[in-house]
Amino acid sequence: MSKLENDISFLKGVGPARADQFRMELGIRTWEDLLMHYPFRYVDKSQVQKVRDVKSDAVAVQLQGTIVRLTEVGEARAKRLVGIFQDETGTMELVWFKGARWLKSSLPLNKPCLVYGKPTEFKGKFNIAHPEVEEIESSRMAAGVGLKPVYSTTEKMSNRGLNSNVIGKLTLQLCEEVRHEIPEVLPQELIQQYKLISRAEALVQLHAPANAEKLEQARRRLKFEELFFLQLQVLQTKLAGTVEQRGVVFEKVGELFNSFYKKHLPFELTGAQKRVVKEIRTDVMKGFHMNRLVQGDVGSGKTIVALMAILLAIDNGYQACLMAPTEILANQHYEGISQLLEPLGVRVELLTGSVKKKSRAPLMEDLKSGELKFIIGTHALIEPVVEFANLGLVVIDEQHRFGVAQRAALWKKAALPPHILVMTATPIPRTLAMTVYGDLDVSIIDELPPGRKPVNTQWHTDAYRLMLFEFIRQEIALGRQVYVVYPMIEESEKMDYKDLFDGYESMSRAFPSPQYFISIVHGRMKAEDRDFEMKQFIEKKTQIMVATTVIEVGVNVPNASVMVIESAERFGLSQLHQLRGRVGRGADQSYCVLMTGHKLSDDTKLRMETMVRTTDGFEIAEVDLRLRGPGDLAGTAQSGVLQLRIADMVKDQQMMAAARNIANEWLTEDPNLSSESSKPIREELFRLKKKKSDWSGIS
Ligand code: ADP
Ligand code: MG
Repeated sequence: MSKLENDISFLKGVGPARADQFRMELGIRTWEDLLMHYPFRYVDKSQVQKVRDVKSDAVAVQLQGTIVRLTEVGEARAKRLVGIFQDETGTMELVWFKGARWLKSSLPLNKPCLVYGKPTEFKGKFNIAHPEVEEIESSRMAAGVGLKPVYSTTEKMSNRGLNSNVIGKLTLQLCEEVRHEIPEVLPQELIQQYKLISRAEALVQLHAPANAEKLEQARRRLKFEELFFLQLQVLQTKLAGTVEQRGVVFEKVGELFNSFYKKHLPFELTGAQKRVVKEIRTDVMKGFHMNRLVQGDVGSGKTIVALMAILLAIDNGYQACLMAPTEILANQHYEGISQLLEPLGVRVELLTGSVKKKSRAPLMEDLKSGELKFIIGTHALIEPVVEFANLGLVVIDEQHRFGVAQRAALWKKAALPPHILVMTATPIPRTLAMTVYGDLDVSIIDELPPGRKPVNTQWHTDAYRLMLFEFIRQEIALGRQVYVVYPMIEESEKMDYKDLFDGYESMSRAFPSPQYFISIVHGRMKAEDRDFEMKQFIEKKTQIMVATTVIEVGVNVPNASVMVIESAERFGLSQLHQLRGRVGRGADQSYCVLMTGHKLSDDTKLRMETMVRTTDGFEIAEVDLRLRGPGDLAGTAQSGVLQLRIADMVKDQQMMAAARNIANEWLTEDPNLSSESSKPIREELFRLKKKKSDWSGIS
């Protein structure tokens, strides 16, 4: 047994109490776990200031001197510990509001020490709250190391003295103890080819960097290792999926597909659309189960691509269904697609929650008998009562509303799993998509139909309101229509509804009938009423649509040219982009107006500026990812794939792509990892899997 598997309590300086804390608070059980508890940042302690030179705008200062007095002040909950620190240029107060008793006995008194923290000015004097204090003899600082690692701890741990400093010391000591026992997990070939440092060296440098350059090498090596093994696992899963998962075969390109393509396309397909149709065709003929994600910005024309895949299915005698996340969207797809299918004589039906029982029954029967080949619907389609004769293709529009479990429910509706085509307008970078969605192949429609003008986007505050109203009048006078959208965080929130109704009222005053007509749509309305209002707008009987985000997805009114977004600061970037995608669908110049308050955070400003600067969905997705991290991405929360220790899904995309290629090459050469040079990889993968299953056994 390697020392690395030792229980954490066997480490010098860690008794049973600390071992408990490590385990309960951070999940650290073994020596190795501690070694893998990477610092989350470093502070540069190469500089030491003097008390006299401390300025109020300093982010942090490091001082060298002595604590000459420590006093507990105040009673009970207001109790705090005050220390007087001094160097040869002056004195300064240090204050601790927590753990006073323990600290008082453990802080170095009258001994040379280093103090580090953020100074605050109070009545003309500086103090530092909760500074880090280190005695100089025991400190690595004495050796002149400038970069000091900072470890995450919990409040509970810090209060009991197991703070970042202490963890640092324990880890350093551990590194000394095990540095010759850290196994290499990458083949020498890769290490040489990509000029990586060894794993042992990297871990030691990560915890105790000799300098910035060494630290960078360590980080590069460990990031690569992490991404390489991540990609290996993703690729292996994918490989296993394609080998084992047989799927239905759409052998021929038949009459329907051909006749539609040659005679009934309402427009010439873009190059990107053609490419994706081809990718799908190749997939479905292979005999393996297709699991493909089509990413395409709003308005890039995903529907027609899906429809062509559906025709392929029907041509081959299979049934197909298209699922939309909302009833409005399902309706719109139904109407649009019915029109397109009319000349082909293909029957299509609609199944949503509001389809009456009486008309449901025959639909179900026809699906079960195979008489009906194509159905469009909402979640209603995945209810167990809906049975298909031979479902061959499922198209899911706007995937982020459908979970993995729902996808799986559809599989059960056929003997062989039907091909799955997921369409999303929330693009994420390709490598990231391939990693996050693991088993999915990714197609990208990266070209908009010709003649689209980018939406002119502006960002204003209330001062602009009168001009905004004037502008809306002008657009309406030109025959255009206008959306005004209000945020609705929870459909039940009272405040949000007040904003919406107030907004509706003020619009009604500014745009009175009979000259103007306004529709209103929100989630609390009955489906019939909502559809009625939508229809009024679609048929141009109203010029203005006041709405919540229920109109976010998919709604298509090409005549609408203005999208006003109220309280835009409350929307996420991808949501703003989705909303903006509701306009700019016709040939006219369109506008998006973002209305915000004055006091905005930096993040919010960046969101607004990004919207104004670009209409490119991928670029927006990148910024969004940087702002929010990948945690919110569809399905990532559960996937666990993204719990990376050191690499960053967003910032390290290039390395991720490289790691993927390298992993792919390696697997192509040695698919079973059975060669001698694959041995370290094989062993590490085994360990990773074991660890994962140990964990899943626990939770
Ligand atoms: P999305 O990708 O957002 O679902 P849609 O499929 O709804 O986009 O298409 C948006 C609009 O663009 C529709 O009105 C559609 O008819 C039109 N469209 C799609 N492809 C083309 C094309 N190649 N040329 C012209 N118009 C197109
Ligand atoms: Mg769409």
